[in-house]
Amino acid sequence: MERILIIEDEEKIARFVELELEFEGYQVEKAFDGREGLALAKAHPFDLILLDIMLPGLNGLEVLRRLRQFSSVPVILLTARDTVVDKVTGLDSGADDYITKPFAIEELLARIRAVLRKTRNTAPASAVLATGSIRLDPVRRECTVGKEPVELTKREFDLLQFLLENKNIVLKREVLLERIWGYDFEGETNVVDVYIRYLRAKLEKPFGLKLIHTVRGVGYIIKDE
Ligand code: CA
Repeated sequence: MERILIIEDEEKIARFVELELEFEGYQVEKAFDGREGLALAKAHPFDLILLDIMLPGLNGLEVLRRLRQFSSVPVILLTARDTVVDKVTGLDSGADDYITKPFAIEELLARIRAVLRKTRNTAPASAVLATGSIRLDPVRRECTVGKEPVELTKREFDLLQFLLENKNIVLKREVLLERIWGYDFEGETNVVDVYIRYLRAKLEKPFGLKLIHTVRGVGYIIKDE
């Protein structure tokens, strides 16, 4: 299920869009200001963000600029001002598309589908993930430390891949559980700790490395060394 974050201070619009998106089968979160939106985007992986430009405090373009420092999630800007300047600035700052308010919901849905289709098709499928001497090839499902191949189980591989894809971001246990074990996993978050131990035993101890850092009471992070 694709996850969409709406950052929009006009609650009526945000609720309306949320209902329509949920009806289309998307999973939706809302934020009513820029700071809250950024915090959500940092804490949870989204497939797309709808970002209003006119927000109190931190405006949409500033939110976008900060977002791009840690994420390449697709963004569609919502703008009330149909001016050329806004569009150009928005697209220059790394938005994928924009839509002018008031918009027909059908048009918004079509643009969301188009942006999601584009990111799915251009997703760098062969991109090798790496940090320090550790390399992970998601296509070949291979993991190496230096030149040494390391055997990982499917879960271990998926967990390491997700941590590397979100390098430098603290990932909560709940988020890891949700993404790697699935939304309807019925169990304890300490299964995450168990698998982190497995990864450490395979990747850290034998090579004398420190890869995965524990953020006490929160979760785990892989930092770019
Ligand atoms: Ca607004």
